[in-house]
Amino acid sequence: MSDPNLSSLIYTRVQLDRAGINRKDEAWLAFKKRDGLARIVAMWRNRSLIVDDTEGPRALLPRREDAPKLAKAADEMVFLGLDDDNIPLFSVDVSHLDEHDAVALAGEGGSFVDLRQLGWMIPRDDAGLLAYARGMAYWHKTHRYCGTCGSPTESREGGHMRECANPQCGRPSFPRTDPAVIMLVEHPGDATHPPRCLLGRSGRWEFPLYSTLAGFVEPGESLEEAVAREVLEEANIEVPVESVRYMASQPWPFPSSLMLGFRATATTADIQIDPHELADARWFTPDEVLGFAEWDQAASNEPRLPRRDSIARWLLQSWLNDVS
Ligand SMILES: [Zn+2]
Repeated sequence: MSDPNLSSLIYTRVQLDRAGINRKDEAWLAFKKRDGLARIVAMWRNRSLIVDDTEGPRALLPRREDAPKLAKAADEMVFLGLDDDNIPLFSVDVSHLDEHDAVALAGEGGSFVDLRQLGWMIPRDDAGLLAYARGMAYWHKTHRYCGTCGSPTESREGGHMRECANPQCGRPSFPRTDPAVIMLVEHPGDATHPPRCLLGRSGRWEFPLYSTLAGFVEPGESLEEAVAREVLEEANIEVPVESVRYMASQPWPFPSSLMLGFRATATTADIQIDPHELADARWFTPDEVLGFAEWDQAASNEPRLPRRDSIARWLLQSWLNDVS
């Protein structure tokens, strides 16, 4: 299993200065857009541009001067930030092209791949950058019209705001992230019983992948209340809000979530699953979890671990470290 320190959480800690104040300056932005050394993060229908050669898979980030048609083909360039060498990075979405044309514009040797298929295999800075670009592309694609008056919206502030084009309205909207709680629920052990953790299996997975429970935060609800409600709804296990402890968070732009990771302590043990949410839920001891198969291991009917790039995996590993 991976090292459970915070820096092992994929899609976090991108080494990028987002330059949030500068990007509101149109002249500054126009100057950065003309920079031939600017790097372009190309998106095509929610897929990211990847190169996979003898060095292994990684993001393909053509320079603006090497791919001028790519920048031109995109309706809007989204300013992502400045790298350590002060080189600007922009993302473009060329979903309106067919795949062949999109790849041709991006340059030799690339292909568009779903980040979920290889997020943990590419360098972590690339993974975080591609996750950021993917989240931005999705937001732009789904906010082309004003939620108040229905008029078209236009990109502003380097793509970090969209403004309603109707002068009577002018409503601004900002990139949104949906908060979701994800929790490792533990049942403390005693002198004769080891501690156990509650893991569930979704009916959406064909294989027995057991993961931490999770769900979206609802309006009018604190994060602790969302944790307690989800655990009760999905497994009929009671978790007092006072026992809910924040652990870590992870951007999860598939399509637009922020996963907020918690640990919580159960006061009941009899599981009753909600069959609409889960196919199974069980208590597992640390030894049992250590015997799980890898999540993508073929031909195994044993319980499997959550995927490597998920905070579920991180929460599980950090619990194992604490109880083992
Ligand atoms: Zn409007």
